[in-house]
Amino acid sequence: MAKKYQRKHRVTRTQKAQNSVDELAIKRHQFEPSGREIWTVVGADCDFMVEYDPSNSSQSFCSCDDYHFRVLGGSIPECYHLMAVRKAREQNKFSTIVFSDDEYEGLLRGLLGDIFSHIS
Ligand SMILES: [Zn+2]
Repeated sequence: MAKKYQRKHRVTRTQKAQNSVDELAIKRHQFEPSGREIWTVVGADCDFMVEYDPSNSSQSFCSCDDYHFRVLGGSIPECYHLMAVRKAREQNKFSTIVFSDDEYEGLLRGLLGDIFSHIS
């Protein structure tokens, strides 16, 4: 992939998603014993929180603007974070951090606090 080529063209969501996967920016937070999962995609300004259920993609959720405006608005099927998480699973390229269920709320609050602090 020549960088010159990319600079001339708009980077597509698919490319952005694959870049995130290649940079190992996808993290799985796995809770035991429930097996509940929260995924995060490390972004330039803050981490994005993704809930991804491979058996039911309509249950997926992402904390980014693209998701809220374009995915829920019906103009695109998924934001690049959801795409990145899907690709990461397919390619088995992500890091897993295991937590206990007791830590679920605290972690969620921390992630959401981080996200809301970046919304102006
Ligand atoms: Zn997103």
